[in-house]
Amino acid sequence: MALTFPYPEPPAAGEAREVAEGVLWLRLPLPFRLDHVNVYLIEDANGFALLDTGIDDPPTRALWERLLSGVLKTKPLTRIVSSHCHPDHIGLAGWLNQRLGVDLYASQTEYLETLTISLDPGALNAEPYRSFYRGHGLDEAQTDLLLSRGLHYLRMVSPLPRTFNRLMAGETLEIGGRIFDVLTGGGHSPEQVMLYCRDGGFILSTDQVMAKISPNISVEAIDPNGDPLGAYLRSLAQLKLELPPDTLALPGHNLPFVGLHTRVDELVGHHRQRCDAVLRAVGADGASAVKLVPVVFGRSIDDPHQMSFAFGETLAHVNYLVRQKALAIRPGADGAWTLVRGANSL
Ligand SMILES: [Zn+2]
Repeated sequence: MALTFPYPEPPAAGEAREVAEGVLWLRLPLPFRLDHVNVYLIEDANGFALLDTGIDDPPTRALWERLLSGVLKTKPLTRIVSSHCHPDHIGLAGWLNQRLGVDLYASQTEYLETLTISLDPGALNAEPYRSFYRGHGLDEAQTDLLLSRGLHYLRMVSPLPRTFNRLMAGETLEIGGRIFDVLTGGGHSPEQVMLYCRDGGFILSTDQVMAKISPNISVEAIDPNGDPLGAYLRSLAQLKLELPPDTLALPGHNLPFVGLHTRVDELVGHHRQRCDAVLRAVGADGASAVKLVPVVFGRSIDDPHQMSFAFGETLAHVNYLVRQKALAIRPGADGAWTLVRGANSL
């Protein structure tokens, strides 16, 4: 079944469009190649609960000021749910909390992830993290960029409220008299929250399942042997198992769509192809992780910011294949790691 798009035209910046009963879709601008984030207002008692916030920058704050004196004037925000710790989804949670006194709801890992960075933004700029990137073949400049991401991140995120309301998988959250199942999934971020309204036939799928974009799945230096791709594939399998195929998906970017099972299959296929490409490229001689980046992405990547995402994503495929014993990582005397075929590789 091909994907269908019941709302093919996105709302203009600052406009709200109803996409499910009692759910308004808004678009906020982002100053990146990906130029927007979707946020949602969910009808609550005496107002709206907000899912995700946009980044903290002057244009987004100005847009929120307009919304607060417009659509939210008579029906104010009642609470903020942040799906995950990335700046486009949690960036203004602290500012809105300060300004309006509304509570933040988030999963524990996502809340603590942002809090940790704010408590010690330079912490990653040290050993053993530097050796991790250098060992996998990144040059000094690329490594410096990756290690400075904490500081860059904080420029887009206002300080978090000191308390939050923890959301956990398996719980339900009542918003405006309706019951939402709390689902969480790893891969794109450690414990991303999705809200599923069974009765309404829709899921706020955030960045976990989007119509066009395959979300970035990256290994981080703090968890060098981690398997975010494995976590992501398990989350996709769970969504397919638990949600009917005609569920309306309301994602964090791109358009709302119907065809969740098809999209899950496409995303799984996409990662399988990348795994195959990695295995072919490692070949009999072995390779460094950085050499695999153009193979995984099908092109060379010159932009250093793109490179930092691309490298983390390449390593996610490597670590997944290491867990399957299709690859192994061999340390060299010079601190450089070489990837070689593993015991289970054909
Ligand atoms: Zn996002």
